[in-house]
Amino acid sequence: MKEISDEFRWSVDQWVTGKKDELVGFLKILIQVPSENRPPTGNELPVQHLLEKKVRELRFETELYSLSNVHGLMDHEAYYPGRDYTNRPNLFARIRGTGGGRSLLFSVHSDVVPGIDGEFEAFCPVERNGRLYGRGSNDMKGGIAAILTAFSFFSEKEIPLKGDILFESVVDEEMGGANGTLAGRIRDHHADAVIIPEPTNMKVCPSHLGGVTWRITLKGKGGMGFGGESLSNPIYGISRIVCEIERFHDECKNKVAFRTKSGEVLTPNVVLSYIKGGDFEPGMADGIPQTCSIEVWVECLPGETLQDVERDFKNRLQALCNDPSMQAYEVFWEQITRFLPGSFAKTELTPILCSLVSQECGVPEEEHMAPFACDAFMFNLYSPSPAIILGPIGENAHAADEFVDVDSLMRLTKVYILAIAKWCNMSPLGIINGEEDRYETMG
Ligand SMILES: [Zn+2]
Repeated sequence: MKEISDEFRWSVDQWVTGKKDELVGFLKILIQVPSENRPPTGNELPVQHLLEKKVRELRFETELYSLSNVHGLMDHEAYYPGRDYTNRPNLFARIRGTGGGRSLLFSVHSDVVPGIDGEFEAFCPVERNGRLYGRGSNDMKGGIAAILTAFSFFSEKEIPLKGDILFESVVDEEMGGANGTLAGRIRDHHADAVIIPEPTNMKVCPSHLGGVTWRITLKGKGGMGFGGESLSNPIYGISRIVCEIERFHDECKNKVAFRTKSGEVLTPNVVLSYIKGGDFEPGMADGIPQTCSIEVWVECLPGETLQDVERDFKNRLQALCNDPSMQAYEVFWEQITRFLPGSFAKTELTPILCSLVSQECGVPEEEHMAPFACDAFMFNLYSPSPAIILGPIGENAHAADEFVDVDSLMRLTKVYILAIAKWCNMSPLGIINGEEDRYETMG
């Protein structure tokens, strides 16, 4: 595979550097339009309209479509019931190539998890020390801004591409929804490869972990025992379960999910995210509560099924609950998210992105596994389009003071532009015909 010419690379570099304020300004607007996902509903509509307007300006054909009009969606084996999709359309957009090139789909989610105010207010973006703070800055409105900036490079410079560029902005990705992404697959919005800009710290991830969340509730016998009755405190029971989960988590550190060429190891996580015990308001608690609950997210590897996770995790805790010392409690298990499988994409786009990221960021040329679950599985398991995850550097996704590193957004934009130029001008058959793969005349 021939290299992109130095002249083209230089022109991309110059152009993106000059677009910094525009990119950051657009990202601030995206953050200021909250698109919170609060199951069963979500408020993505204003952002979807904003994105539609933006891609139209870039000469894309666009379509907003309602999930309830997607024939076969609700009967699909991967559909997750119980959500309300009123006024929550998906956006699909396409710009057709001149022909003979590979198509590339950028798939983004427009929703964010509910805002939490910290040092900064969730929906009032603040730029400080090279970071842009705000809900969605990192997951994934930063990535969206980078993609649209990359698109505007080709539109502004009127550079034709052989392959189609597709863009979709789905609803209901957070909280394990994934039905928005499924709808696009059922509508046959396929491409030769897909990029999802979930925040990966500029790591190219053709694979990702999966997982599932359970709520475990113990019911004991609460009160004060004034009548001499025997009580059982479910907080003690839950604390034994918590200790067992911590041991399970420690053991997961020996389970290698992925090892990069340079030896970086990824292990699956167990996240205890919530605990509640006590029947009264804090400060009013007087007596043993009736129930105590925890919520726990358990990750799994690509290829593992819900039954595998149940065997390893759930059976182990159930064995603990069968111990005679735990007989004073009733135990309730609820699966509160869908099972999100991990997945793996096989595509020639992977080495292209690895090479571009390596050159742009000075890191080893290698692939990684994303340490989180996301909608990539809908592509890799339920469509012919392989999906790679590649997004910016940042922190505090789903927490207060979420931020994205602005410099990484600039780098990401350059990588997206170069990836589009290279991929969409390659023949779908994988045959590079001499000069077809060079771009010194572009820009
Ligand atoms: Zn995300």
